[in-house]
Order: sequence, then C-alpha cells, then structure tokens
Amino acid sequence: MISFYPGPSRVHDKIPAYVKDAYKAGIMSINHRSDDFIKISKRTVGLLKQKLGLPKEYMVFFTSSATECWEIIAQSLITKRSLHLFNGAFGQKWFEYTRRLHPNGAVPVPFGVNDELLPSSLQAESDDDVICLTQNETSNGTQVSNAIIRQFRFNFPKNLIAVDATSSMAGIRLDLGLADVWYASVQKCFGLPAGLGVMVCSPKALDRARSIGEKNHYNSLTFLITMMEKWQTSCTPNVLGIYLLMRVLENSESISSVNKETIRRYREWNEFLKAGKNISHFVENEAVHSHTVIPVKCDEKTLVEIKKRALKEGLLLGEGYGEFKPLTFRIANFPAIKDREIRLLRSFLAAY
Ligand SMILES: *Cc1c(COP(=O)(O)O)cnc(C)c1O
Repeated sequence: MISFYPGPSRVHDKIPAYVKDAYKAGIMSINHRSDDFIKISKRTVGLLKQKLGLPKEYMVFFTSSATECWEIIAQSLITKRSLHLFNGAFGQKWFEYTRRLHPNGAVPVPFGVNDELLPSSLQAESDDDVICLTQNETSNGTQVSNAIIRQFRFNFPKNLIAVDATSSMAGIRLDLGLADVWYASVQKCFGLPAGLGVMVCSPKALDRARSIGEKNHYNSLTFLITMMEKWQTSCTPNVLGIYLLMRVLENSESISSVNKETIRRYREWNEFLKAGKNISHFVENEAVHSHTVIPVKCDEKTLVEIKKRALKEGLLLGEGYGEFKPLTFRIANFPAIKDREIRLLRSFLAAY
C-alpha cells in the first residue's frame, strides 16, 4: 500500500535500516540522562538548525506531538489573551484547547478558506496578546505565506507569534526568524513514524516564558528550557524517534532544495487537477494553496468509486475533513513520497 495520507504518512525508505542500526547500537535502551543520549540530542538539534535554516539563537525542544505544543503554549506563554486566526479544523482545535485553559482569553478569529489573511484587520489589545497562526491547514489544504507572516511580524513587533507548521515544516522553506514559536510533529513532512514533536522558540519567547515563570506541569516551558540547556527533556523522551530524526536529517538536502521539489510537485498536481473532468482542486484561490497537502473535490458518487478503486490498486488516499468529507479527499505532497508513486496515483486518477 502506498500512503498518500497527509499524516501519519509514508516514511522514508531507510527507516527500517535505521531502526535496525538503533537496535544493534543499543539506542533503544539507553538512559535519557546518559552521555550517549546527550550526544544524539545535541546533534539532532544542530542538524535541525542547519537543515531547516533556524536562527542560531532559537532553542529547540522535543515534545510528544503538536497537540502537546498547543498545551505548552497555552499554559506557559499565554497569560490573558490569545488571538487564533484559523480557517479549518486544526486551527480551530488549537483555539479550543487554549480556550479550555483560558476560558475568557482565547479569541477566535475565523476566516474563509479562499481568503488571504490580512494582518491589518487584526487588533491586539496589549503586547501580551499571543497571535496564533496555522501556517499549513492540513484539513483543507491552504497555507499562510512567508510574506504574510512577515506582515504580521511588522504589524505586531512586540507580540509573540506562534505558528503551527505541523504539516509543512521540513517540506517547504519557512522564514523561521519571523515568528517566536514554531512546532511540528514528525509523522508529516519529516517522513518519520509518529510519536515525536519538535518545537522551536525565539529568544523573545524564552524570555517571556521565564518572566511568566509557570511551573505547574511536567512540560512547563521553564522546565523544558532548564532541561534543554543540558540537551535533555523533562520526562523520558521518544529516544528512538529522536535518533531516527537525526539519521533522516543527516541524509536530507537543504530546505531550499526540498522546497523547490515540493513546489514543482505541487504545480504538477495543480495542472493535473485543472485538466480533471470530475475532479478539481478544492480551493479556488491559488494564492492560498498549500504546497504540501492537495485537497481534491468531486461529487459524492465519484468519491465513493475513487476510494474503493484506489484501495484495490494499493493507493491510500487521505479522507476529507468535516462537512466536506463526502465531497473531498486529500493527497499528501510530502518529501518522502517518490515521483514514481505520484505517477502511479496520477495514472489512476487520469480516468476522472
Ligand atoms: C496533524 C496536525 C496536528 C496534530 O498533530 P499531532 O501529532 O497529532 O498532535 C496539529 N496541527 C496540524 C496543522 C496538523 O496537521
């Protein structure tokens, strides 16, 4: 089965070999306070910085998932208000998780799937307000460009800007210096098995966490900072996941080459869908198209047939989301997917 699910998704070919190496080298049983772990952790952080173009002064943390990052931000960086700009299910979930911890502080700022975000329409009440953006909305295949994030930075120089890049980090080039918190989980563009999240924080976010000083949770950011200053984590982490991340990063190209490939493939998908008889891109406004998740629209009957036949052909498509579920499916455009696999899927879809 070839998975085009936008997470968990196809893993890199070499993962089984890396898992074997990990077993042979005893990585699966190492102590997370040992020098062996510290070496792996330090090297992985260095590679993340180098390969993703992360500013040197940013700090990297290992978490269990993107969902955990929603809570860390809510408990450790938000004091009163957070402004949640979203146009789909993941951005909305982030808002809802935050609202549970800050019932009067989380403010929803929804926008349309085909709308480009306008930073000038947003009002912050104070410099403490945290602005929450979902860079790549996996549920509907839209994204917020680096240019728009730059405008947010310009309009809100003092506010913390936190960005969910779960299904785009390591797949496209993100201007990471423009925001204060970014996070992702590795089962999307990193091409790794699930169970590990990566969160990065700017010096401003680190200062804010220290001055808020929240210490009530095992994953309070203040603890994570203290531990990561020693390349460690507050609880026993997914050591195998971190090791696999290190191995994958060692062999990955720079993010600008990966970005080029992702955009080339996105453009090919877009052209392909324009020529479709019964299928088309779900999002009309090309300016907001995600480069890593391709949402496809069709009628209900066609969808039932496509799903059934795809499975028989060994092609796993991503389900649509929410109210559009009966009329859409999604295709991951993640780096671990092979060109040959994409050709297979296209020749299957060519009938539609
Ligand atoms: C997948 C996804 C999440 C959730 O990731 P988990 O690893 O399940 O916590 C959050 N946000 C976005 C945009 C996603 O695509």
